[in-house]
Amino acid sequence: MKYVSTRGAAPVLGFTDVLLTGLAADGGLYVPERWPALPGGLDPRAAYAVTATEVMRPFVEDSLPAEVLSRIVEDAYRGFDDPAVVPLRDLGGGFWLLELFHGPTLAFKDLALQLVGRLFDHELRARGERVTIVGATSGDTGSAAIEACRDRESIEIFILHPAGRVSDVQRRQMTTVASRNVHNIAVEGTFDDCQDLVKAMFGDEAFRSELRLSAVNSINWARVMAQIVYYVTAGLSLGGGTSPVAFSVPTGNFGNIFAGYAAGLMGLPISQLIVASNRNDILTRFFTTGTMEIRAVQPTISPSMDIQVSSNLERLFFEMEGRNGAAVAELMTEFRSQGTVSVPVEKLDGLRALFDCGRLDEDETRSVMADVHRETGLLIDPHTAVGLGVARRQRRDPSVPMVCLATAHPAKFPEAVEQATGSRPEWPPWLADLNEAPERFVTMPRDLAAVEAHIRRCVGG
Ligand SMILES: *Cc1c(COP(=O)(O)O)cnc(C)c1O
Repeated sequence: MKYVSTRGAAPVLGFTDVLLTGLAADGGLYVPERWPALPGGLDPRAAYAVTATEVMRPFVEDSLPAEVLSRIVEDAYRGFDDPAVVPLRDLGGGFWLLELFHGPTLAFKDLALQLVGRLFDHELRARGERVTIVGATSGDTGSAAIEACRDRESIEIFILHPAGRVSDVQRRQMTTVASRNVHNIAVEGTFDDCQDLVKAMFGDEAFRSELRLSAVNSINWARVMAQIVYYVTAGLSLGGGTSPVAFSVPTGNFGNIFAGYAAGLMGLPISQLIVASNRNDILTRFFTTGTMEIRAVQPTISPSMDIQVSSNLERLFFEMEGRNGAAVAELMTEFRSQGTVSVPVEKLDGLRALFDCGRLDEDETRSVMADVHRETGLLIDPHTAVGLGVARRQRRDPSVPMVCLATAHPAKFPEAVEQATGSRPEWPPWLADLNEAPERFVTMPRDLAAVEAHIRRCVGG
């Protein structure tokens, strides 16, 4: 399988180069040059890792030997605490929760990152290379990246977080990881300061090449690829792979829901895809009006969806434009320069045949959590509640199973859950007690030279 850029002007690459490259040289995102059909004869009762290997194999093809891919996939999902890896829970009335939070950091990002960290390490070792991964976190994504990269021989990982501005649980999930290649830096500043430092490091050409800086961010194709799998397993379980299923997805960067769209392009029967937003509703406004417009980010109780721009939407634009990279480049250039861009109504109508959307404000999100708790005794996290609340409103056909993606474990957001339901979710016993483990991190000023010197020292020594 070869990969092309959504902007049509970057080199065509194979799977492993796309894996290590991330963003394409023309500023676009890599997508497969064609969508492979789902393999025939998928067994709904097969182990998750078996289905995952079969679904992903056409994207990888001979870039990795078949037995290597299946070994890496098995290893990636072995640490999940449920034998189904992504169990479905019946909520009644045709609503289902697809629990994507059984990995080491209790959020759906583990499903992609546990695989991508291992793929990175395998490929780097095969090439005899090493990289330094640098990232900033406002609390939630840092731990998933750390868990994905810990103890990988060819990777050193540095995560910057704003000192005193992430929750205790979030900090401890990062700083209690006792691996030599994991480095946490608490920056005396805000999340934006952390992000600016990371950008500045990538912009420092000498530092960047000396340390071989890299990232595992949400635009990486391999992350989308890994996420296609659980749409397929849910479709197989509830529709046998032949009857349609609907999905509702709490959406931020559009990476998760794009994977659902891709599963549909590969032949999984999907009758409806619901884009669920919190107060940061750039996507809902886009699917409603056809205009995508940047606004300031407002903090919410579902912080992993507090985004200004959904980077993976560009992959959808590529399909909407009939895979015309020049047209996508034009659209994105206008958006970057004007802060707004509109698509014509006939193209929007094409998308709306499959997509619906909706937003939930903070009170609505809390009442969904409270309703579910009252009706079923179950605690759900605020992101999951946004998806479920919008699904209840937007469902088209009550005879089609509605799968709501549960993207985080409630214990990750204990304050919001307790405030809404009166019950405090318990930290899962299969995870280490965060409060007992010693923390490891350094606190540094908001100073590029000092942070770079620290990283150099750690990598050198
Ligand atoms: C990252 C995240 C999301 C948003 O996913 P995207 O792929 O960015 O759309 C939703 N919920 C949780 C819990 C997340 O961590």
